[in-house]
Amino acid sequence: MNEFMKKAVEEALEGIRNKEGGPFGAAIVKDGVIIAVGNNKVIATNDPTAHAEIVAIRRATEILGRFDLSDCEIYTTCEPCPMCYSAIHWAKIPVMYYGATRKDAEDIGFSDKYLYDVLSGEIEDTRLESNQIDVEECLEAFRLYDEDEDKTLY
Ligand SMILES: [Zn+2]
Repeated sequence: MNEFMKKAVEEALEGIRNKEGGPFGAAIVKDGVIIAVGNNKVIATNDPTAHAEIVAIRRATEILGRFDLSDCEIYTTCEPCPMCYSAIHWAKIPVMYYGATRKDAEDIGFSDKYLYDVLSGEIEDTRLESNQIDVEECLEAFRLYDEDEDKTLY
């Protein structure tokens, strides 16, 4: 078994034993070394965004002191949900290894299907009422940012 995925699985199992959240684990690897691990801590922290991948990414960025993880790889015990997939993208991680599939997760009650279907345009989102308001006022921060000569693009 892959040594990095082994660590991610151990994290997932430890999280279940401690009743911290769902059965998911992740590891961030840089230069062939694990620099951060994480497991789902949604229950332990009352944080719905505390998925294994997010927890691991937050730890890795804190350790490295930067938000750019383009020199890292992520190992996750399950195909990521849309939120984690996006976080991996925003962290600029170029390589991912995953174990179980979203279908495996769905089979035990962790379904991402609704989100994937909404994001792909297959169905309309009926669970979130979304309203656009105060556009001009909200664009003020955009204008300020765009005028900044030293702006950093994310
Ligand atoms: Zn997730």
